[in-house]
Amino acid sequence: MNIQERIKSTIRDIPDFPKAGILFKDITPILTDAKLSQDITRELANYWKKFDLDVIIGIESRGFLWGSALAQALSLPFVIARKKGKLPAETYEFKYDLEYGTAEIEIHKGAFVEGSKALIHDDLLATGGTARAAAELVKLAGGEVAGFSFLVELSFLSGAKVLDEYKTPIHSLVTY
Ligand code: AMP
Repeated sequence: MNIQERIKSTIRDIPDFPKAGILFKDITPILTDAKLSQDITRELANYWKKFDLDVIIGIESRGFLWGSALAQALSLPFVIARKKGKLPAETYEFKYDLEYGTAEIEIHKGAFVEGSKALIHDDLLATGGTARAAAELVKLAGGEVAGFSFLVELSFLSGAKVLDEYKTPIHSLVTY
């Protein structure tokens, strides 16, 4: 099996979570497979090593898992984007719309130097709203959006179209 097949056969589908009609792609079984986890990090690093990057931004919470591993593999700094109210120091904030209501994410002020080329990483790209919010946060903090990285992309939700405006590479290991 190639890595795409291994990832797809390990991800667990949970119907109607967190609400009716959503087929949740549960990546937690990947975490219990150390070899697959390592191979995913290697695959991500292999793809992104060709790009000129200064920092990796991981989106709470599953974006921390391989975001951090990728940053270590590429010897780059890792910065976390968290839900509002979790980061202790001064922050930049960005509010965005969800299907119902709004959400807000933050990063620490001074977490990266202005002008840094930032790669945004999350476990999964669905509608693109979360990754777009992280990209706007990067811009607010004076950074440059240099790319988007995901383990999984739900292409039928067209999130990549939402991220097109940044004119940067969008890379997903597996697509449904
Ligand atoms: P979106 O903003 O719609 O692109 O949603 C992406 C965020 O929601 C990511 O942080 C994902 O972890 C999570 N997410 C959305 N849909 C799913 C799904 N079907 N399975 C697992 N996670 C999801």
